[in-house]
Amino acid sequence: MISIKGLYKKFGELEVLKGIDLEVNNGEVVVIIGPSGSGKTTLLRCLNILEVPTAGTIILEGHKADFSMPLKKKDVDYFKKKSGMVFQHYNLFPHKTALENVMEGPVIVKKEAKEVARKKAGQLLTKVGLSDKFDFYPHQLSGGQQQRVGIARALAMEPKVMLFDEPTSALDPELVGEVLQVMKDLANEGMTMVVVTHEMRFAKDVADVVIFMDDGKVIERDKPSEMFKNPKEERTRQFLNLLL
Ligand code: ADP
Ligand code: MG
Repeated sequence: MISIKGLYKKFGELEVLKGIDLEVNNGEVVVIIGPSGSGKTTLLRCLNILEVPTAGTIILEGHKADFSMPLKKKDVDYFKKKSGMVFQHYNLFPHKTALENVMEGPVIVKKEAKEVARKKAGQLLTKVGLSDKFDFYPHQLSGGQQQRVGIARALAMEPKVMLFDEPTSALDPELVGEVLQVMKDLANEGMTMVVVTHEMRFAKDVADVVIFMDDGKVIERDKPSEMFKNPKEERTRQFLNLLL
């Protein structure tokens, strides 16, 4: 479903992604781990074309973007529409209610009728356990509730793949579980997911594949059971020793 080949990203002189190859199959959950600054966020943002890669190709559902050529607007629109991003700091609109946050994308981007969008937004908020919070503003919600609104908002665009960038790392420990549970439910429904996280328990329970990134490269890729028990690369071992 996703095929990334030779992906590079530079910020000025700083090369942050140094030739990433990555395949994600339909319905797969891929967890990306790696030290701070290794390029995990940049990789997710490239998948969503929030950042434009410097070189390489990404194929999403047979639709190819080749970054050695100028990007076409329809390619950018396609990638944005087909991938839903969940951010570390939720990025909700502070002056909109939970329901309005979830409706925003479908109404503004997809030109959906407001009543249709409102009904779907209500269903999605119910699905993430927030049926009693439709009219609450972000500041009236806990971090875990805000992040669940963030997930509902991404789902509202009916993406083919969900991208999560450390979705629980800004949360108090007691709120982490409720967000991970929503993510687990999504995975069980067959959603294709790419998740940057330090929650090793989640990786062990839910991931089909774990990717270890360091210094802009994929160092190792394996099933979680193998990666955590028996890492092949010294750098992976060192990183896991710090975490486990
Ligand atoms: P990670 O998510 O693994 O911590 P990032 O992808 O956020 O890593 O960052 C990788 C490197 O790219 C870091 O050195 C960071 O400072 C740099 N970087 C990220 N975004 C930008 C940007 N917009 N402009 C300049 N440098 C950036
Ligand atoms: Mg990051």
